[in-house]
Amino acid sequence: MEQYFAGQNAKQFEEKLRPFISQIRLEGNLEPTKAEQDHAFLIQLVYWFRRSFKWDSDPRCEGCGSETINQGLDTPIPSELQYGAFRVELYSCRYCLRTTRCPRYNDPLKLLETRSGRCGEWANCFTLYCRAFGYATRLVGPFLLCGIHTRD
Ligand SMILES: [Zn+2]
Repeated sequence: MEQYFAGQNAKQFEEKLRPFISQIRLEGNLEPTKAEQDHAFLIQLVYWFRRSFKWDSDPRCEGCGSETINQGLDTPIPSELQYGAFRVELYSCRYCLRTTRCPRYNDPLKLLETRSGRCGEWANCFTLYCRAFGYATRLVGPFLLCGIHTRD
């Protein structure tokens, strides 16, 4: 049997496939079911979300954009508590020494605005998108460990 690779003998490969494609068109039902369309959309949603949501494990300095060093936790201020940030991490800039606050928001609507975080924020926001598009999903996990994920 001949082997064909992408980019090699493409014309020859198409010629060999043509009769099979015609036969599939005659015999097959090429209309995807609703379940197949939903599945395909969900896969596209995952890829889009992975590109659009910033994984923020090492926050950059708000002032100069340089690397920071974790300085521990601070008490949330009212504007952070308003969006469920009961945990606020502090980071000190390696260059200008400015302190950057990193509130860990739990409100998915706030996460639509910030579009960044770690596992908890990621799963929380992604679950919101899934539910908005009609997928029966729920947020699962122990919230203090890095094990939160979205389930159907
Ligand atoms: Zn800085």
